[in-house]
Amino acid sequence: MHKTGRRKLGVMGGTFDPIHHGHLVAASEVANRFDLDEVIFVPTGQPWQKSARQVSAAEDRYLMTVIATASNPRFSVSRADIDREKATYTVDTLRDLQNQHPDADLHFITGADALASILTWQDWAELFELAKFVGVSRPGYELNVDHLEAHLRDQPADAVTVIEIPALAISSSECRRRAAEGRPVWYLVPDGVVQYISKRHLYVPVGNGKVGT
Ligand code: ATP
Ligand code: MG
Repeated sequence: MHKTGRRKLGVMGGTFDPIHHGHLVAASEVANRFDLDEVIFVPTGQPWQKSARQVSAAEDRYLMTVIATASNPRFSVSRADIDREKATYTVDTLRDLQNQHPDADLHFITGADALASILTWQDWAELFELAKFVGVSRPGYELNVDHLEAHLRDQPADAVTVIEIPALAISSSECRRRAAEGRPVWYLVPDGVVQYISKRHLYVPVGNGKVGT
């Protein structure tokens, strides 16, 4: 418990198709830097920005997220987005979590790429009422909030913080591509997730053999 008597919760949203070590390092680094009590991973339901391509079943993405986070006592997984009927917006996720944890201050964690799009397309004022935003560096993307300055002017200084984290050039897209081509995903994702991908034949083109080991 913190001086304010309020818990500090991280919220790590993502498609997690599959979850990989880049996500886990981001959550762990922010938890440490912001002294968070817990980080809640929230696999998204139907990603409105990704509807153009096939996304793995929500249940598979949820289970991979559980497998990847199970060993960390400060990590947990929420079904808030995958159980929602309609498309997910960050604001819906934050509203649900705030209702479930009225005693907590939320910190929404996002990579440099996602930070820009969330804050560009959605209703700022409401987002900032619900959570603080923490943007983490990601190889290949610029971590720069200068273009947001006009919107941030009326916000408290800690509305958006950007931090450098150890660079892991891993993406779910690359993991899927590797699995589809029978190349290894070992050490890019946790071992249990490698095994789950193989067991469920995820990302393997129909009619093809199995995931590379
Ligand atoms: P995809 O390639 O399918 O878009 P992804 O690797 O970007 O997958 P997402 O589930 O889209 O993974 O990302 C969830 C969140 O994690 C986003 O905020 C994203 O910016 C962040 N993130 C993903 N990979 C990294 C990484 N390697 N380093 C830092 N942040 C990351
Ligand atoms: Mg992404």
